[in-house]
Amino acid sequence: MADTGSDLEHAETHDVNKSHSRDKYDVGIVGAGPAGLTLAVILARLGISTAVFDERSDQTDVGRADGIQPKTIETLQMLGLGDELLRKGVRIYDICMWRGSATSPVRRVGREVHYPTSIVDVLHPYILLCHQGMVESVLIDDLGDSGVSVSRSHRFTRFDYAPGGPSGPLDLSFGMVGGDAVKHVHADYIVGCDGARSLVRRQIPNTHATARPHESYWGVLDGELDTDFPDIWSKTIVFSEEHGSVLIIPRERNMTRIYIEMRSSPSVKTLDQAFVMDQARLILAPYRAEWRSVEWFGNYQVTQRVAARFSDPSLRAFIAGDASHTHSPKAAQGMNTSVHDSWNLGWKMNLAVRGLAKPVLLESYEAERMKVAHDLIDFDFEHANEIAAGDIARLAENFRVNTRFISGMGVEYAENVINRGCDQTRGDAKPGCTLPPSKATRYIDANPVDVQLDIPMCGQFRVFVVVPDVLGPGEARFLASLSDHVASESSFLTRLSRAAAESYRRKPRPRRETDLFSQPARYQAFSELFTFSLLTSTRKDRFELASLPALFSMSPWTVYLDDVPHLDTRGLCCISKWLGEVEVGRVVIVNVRPDGYVGSIKRWDVVGETGEAAARWLDEYYGAFLEALRQVASELNLDEMVLVYYTYFSCCHQTAAQSGNEDNKQLTEEAPYSPNVKRRHELSSVVISPKTPLTAQNAVCSELTSKDPGTVPWAYLGQPALTYWIPYLEGWLWNIRPLIMKWPLSVAGLLSLLALVSAQSDSVSVVDADTGITFQSFTNDQDVTYRVALPANATADAAYDVILQVVAPVTLGWVGWAWGGAMTYNPLTVVWANGEDVVYSSRQALGYYTPIQYEDAKYTVLKGTSVNETHFKLTALCAGCASWLDFEGNPTTLDGAGQVNFAFAYSTTPVEDPSSGESGFSIHDSVGHWAHDLGAARSDKFSSWVAANKGSNSTLRRRMRVGRYGY
Ligand SMILES: Cc1cc2nc3c(=O)[nH]c(=O)nc-3n(C[C@H](O)[C@H](O)[C@H](O)COP(=O)(O)OP(=O)(O)OC[C@H]3O[C@@H](n4cnc5c(N)ncnc54)[C@H](O)[C@@H]3O)c2cc1C
Repeated sequence: MADTGSDLEHAETHDVNKSHSRDKYDVGIVGAGPAGLTLAVILARLGISTAVFDERSDQTDVGRADGIQPKTIETLQMLGLGDELLRKGVRIYDICMWRGSATSPVRRVGREVHYPTSIVDVLHPYILLCHQGMVESVLIDDLGDSGVSVSRSHRFTRFDYAPGGPSGPLDLSFGMVGGDAVKHVHADYIVGCDGARSLVRRQIPNTHATARPHESYWGVLDGELDTDFPDIWSKTIVFSEEHGSVLIIPRERNMTRIYIEMRSSPSVKTLDQAFVMDQARLILAPYRAEWRSVEWFGNYQVTQRVAARFSDPSLRAFIAGDASHTHSPKAAQGMNTSVHDSWNLGWKMNLAVRGLAKPVLLESYEAERMKVAHDLIDFDFEHANEIAAGDIARLAENFRVNTRFISGMGVEYAENVINRGCDQTRGDAKPGCTLPPSKATRYIDANPVDVQLDIPMCGQFRVFVVVPDVLGPGEARFLASLSDHVASESSFLTRLSRAAAESYRRKPRPRRETDLFSQPARYQAFSELFTFSLLTSTRKDRFELASLPALFSMSPWTVYLDDVPHLDTRGLCCISKWLGEVEVGRVVIVNVRPDGYVGSIKRWDVVGETGEAAARWLDEYYGAFLEALRQVASELNLDEMVLVYYTYFSCCHQTAAQSGNEDNKQLTEEAPYSPNVKRRHELSSVVISPKTPLTAQNAVCSELTSKDPGTVPWAYLGQPALTYWIPYLEGWLWNIRPLIMKWPLSVAGLLSLLALVSAQSDSVSVVDADTGITFQSFTNDQDVTYRVALPANATADAAYDVILQVVAPVTLGWVGWAWGGAMTYNPLTVVWANGEDVVYSSRQALGYYTPIQYEDAKYTVLKGTSVNETHFKLTALCAGCASWLDFEGNPTTLDGAGQVNFAFAYSTTPVEDPSSGESGFSIHDSVGHWAHDLGAARSDKFSSWVAANKGSNSTLRRRMRVGRYGY
């Protein structure tokens, strides 16, 4: 058992394992068994920084689990894994029952198909027998493909919340096996996959297990059997009234596993290998039973337990696998259930880490998996008793009744925020249940595929739109309207998708070799979060992909034709299997969770209902457990999220006042800043905390994205709106992050923070050799320098000109300067090189799309403007860079006597037309802020510097306030 760490604390060092390139992770997983490895595989593939620790020096080499159930095979296939296991494993299709007594030798009394199609609909109707180590190997290899390896010989001892509350990273402590050192790793979440004796579980309050009083002792032996017993290649139970029962399981590598129960054993220790062999010989007699070799022997006592909690109250610490439930191994469920715990937790944790999930999503892990664990131990208790009792008829009945559950297909999650309308289904697809196996033809390449497996696991929701007749006029109208509304600016799915796009930009999925073959981008055309799919019975020759509404034509790999019932497990069409009858004139939408379980289903009548209503239904469904706004706050580990754009808040406030919307009012009341109080630049803000009602958060989000829709449609610009403001906001938050971390994040604290930030200047005094001007100068981490010089009398009271200078590497596509330190409603100077020319562009952003030309800042290019081999340099006099009208039309002037916060942005992507100052340009790679000391930039030489540097040795070409300069 693991040390609690008390004696290790004295040897504490902060020497984080050198094999780690970092000491802070999104998720720290303790235990590299099936549960820990599955979770790590999922998270690592989805781009979540993950560390896995195990006290063992190597993976499981012998013994333990060996039976992979049909649902687990499918799950592994969804991960693109399992081919090797299918190739190497042994398949069990039937189950045999034998019985004998003192007077009659054992004889076969029954034979059953293990997974009859009439009872359970599975793609793989067998148990796949592979050693647990083989499963671990497949997972470890896959983890390696994502660039993650297991940190071995790390014995977890404890975890601690950050001082002051659960919002900071957790501190995980490990003792090094065979040494004294203690290592510390920080992670936002910890998941204890550390087996039945889990130490993580012990640290989570109120997890005490409820156990069933069941005493049975079993010995298990893996080896190559030399026998004339006829059924060793079936799963076989042999019950001898005289000697007890033996369970025979065929294994890969010509091996056989046998389980022997020892009745009322005084001690598990007496149940040794010789005893098990002797018992097997006695029970199987008159058949011969000898062993050519033995690979592994183990004995154990069966207890059925389920932990009372699977997570801590703050949803930062979780347990999965045997750490949360234990039972007997006879029904081959432990590894399977453990894999599925992680399968359930993985996608939810991905969304939580990305700030896209409401807390209710992570909460659903415990609710869903605890029910399965209780169902499992109830079944296991009965099953183990039936095996021990030896009543073959009852045992057969026990199998029959529980076949679906044993296969894994019978797992049914109860109705909750993700599983909606569980009782309103007509076919086999049911909310809370896994999608039944079905075949369809992929339109694009005519391949018949397993629809439920075809879309690779990228952490996305699958939205199947089922339309028997895509050509029906009502259906076509419905689909077009659905497509338009889902992709519209007001759509919550669109906003979520933009937030997801930004999150995946910052935290991308790793590029894996297998991507070359699976081509995940095919499934991300609409969104990183949603894959839309069309399933229809319309004949292929009656429609073209290009004629479908954009939502579907942009995802041609997920248009399926329901025309191959002969390939189905039950000979059914996909639509009728999943949904029962779907009449012409009907459209059905099936939301499928990233783990392949159905989330919700709704039928629509294209006569009375519109695609817009369906789009609103989707918004409402996903809005119940997903969100876009928490993203920045959660990435920065902030308790509260600060929106620095009072302009937005003003608009919300107005909306609240006008509409009388209660939620908005509430938000206004909670917001300590009055939106109408004049504040300078980014000092105006609204604080949204987890306490802010979610509907109010959504209202803000809606305002943010609907404000200034402008005349240019988003789709035309091709820029996700949120990508403009989230990084900007985020950049600002990152700037003050070190302070926030040390500061109790209250509004008062925030004000002080802002004061503190502005008390520290990042600029220094520099004399420019080309012009002789003394600038206050700041250089960012991309080697971009921003300089400014001001007249001696510059203050906030009156507008004034500035001399600006920007020096940037020629490797950058463009660099920008936001004079108000915010992206919108302040002058932006954007500069790039065009060969030997320097091009500047005066812009202003009014929303979250490419900034428009800004005519109120007038530039006069000065000497000291040039391009050399490494850098380009713009020097200019600007009238209108230091003053502008804010969102409400009020004049704003930078305080020339003080310090101000400026913002920069840059991109390595060249602008579209480098020769034109009107060129479009792509979203920035990064943004940042700095504090500039304007007071120190003032000089009474200002006018003479301007005069001396006017009349440059260059030709200035201008177009509509957009200049291009070169010599
Ligand atoms: C004889 C036998 C036969 C079985 N047969 C089957 C079967 O056929 N099918 C089936 O589905 N299941 C079977 N099981 C059950 C199955 O083995 C377990 O349910 C499964 O391994 C649980 O996976 P897990 O990842 O939760 O835990 P484990 O596999 O127990 O992994 C836990 C990991 O955590 C590590 N760890 C523990 N404490 C610490 C610590 N403090 N610090 C760091 N690391 C730690 C351990 O070293 C271990 O690697 C069988 C079990 C037994 C014993």
